[in-house]
Amino acid sequence: MDTDYPIETWNPIVGCKHHCYGDGCWAARIALRLKDNPYVKRYRDGFDHPKLIAKELRKTWKPNTVVFVVSMGDMWGRWIEDRWIKRVLEACQNSPRTIFFFETKNPRRYYDWLELIPENAILSSTIEANSDYNLSEAPEVKERYAAMKQLEWGRKHISIEPIVDFDLEVFLRWIKDIKPVIVSVGYDNYGCNLPEPSLSKTMKLIEELKKFTKVEKKQLREKASHAK
Ligand code: SF4
Repeated sequence: MDTDYPIETWNPIVGCKHHCYGDGCWAARIALRLKDNPYVKRYRDGFDHPKLIAKELRKTWKPNTVVFVVSMGDMWGRWIEDRWIKRVLEACQNSPRTIFFFETKNPRRYYDWLELIPENAILSSTIEANSDYNLSEAPEVKERYAAMKQLEWGRKHISIEPIVDFDLEVFLRWIKDIKPVIVSVGYDNYGCNLPEPSLSKTMKLIEELKKFTKVEKKQLREKASHAK
C-alpha cells in the first residue's frame, strides 16, 4: 500500500489453502521456515492449517496508522470460520481511528461482513491478470473481478502482483469497472516461473491506469528469462 501513514501488519489469523504459485508465495515460505522453530508455535501444523491466534485479538492500534490485517494468510478464504472473522472485525472496533487494510483472493466473502467491517477500511483483492493460468486454488480471476466490481465500498484496492501476462484492453476495462482508489503493480520476487508480460507492456498498463487511479509501483523489471 502506498500511503503517507505508518504501516503495521497484524496476523490474528494465519495460514491459507489457496496454494498459490506452486506454494511459492512469500507467506508460505516464511511459515515453512518457522515450522520447526521452537519459539514460534503458530506454523507448526503447516501453512495450510489456518488458525485463529486469540492473543493477537487483544492488540490495539494507533490512530492514523494503516494496519494490514492478515499478511500471513487469507482471512476471507472459504475455509475460515465465520466466528473467527467476527472476532477479528470486533477487535478492529477497539481502534476506531486506525485504517484497516484487508486483502483476499476470495472477495465475494466481503459481502457477508459489510456491516461489521470498519467504515474507513480498505478492501483489496489480488488480480494478477485477466486470464487464469492455474496459478492457485483460489477463485478464478474472473470471479474476483466480478466480486470487486459489484462490491459497494468507497476505498477499494487492487493488487496486480505478481503480474502475469494480460490482454491490455480487457484488463484495463476490468480495473476501470472496479473503480479502485489505488492499484499496486509488481513482478514476482520469488522465482516462481510465472508467465510474465514484458516490461514495456506492463509500463503501458501503468500509463493507462494512471489516467483514472493512483498507481503504486512495486518491483518492476524485465520478464525473467525463465518465464514461460
Ligand atoms: S492467497 Fe496469499 S497467502 Fe494464500 S497462498 Fe495465495 S499468496 Fe499465499
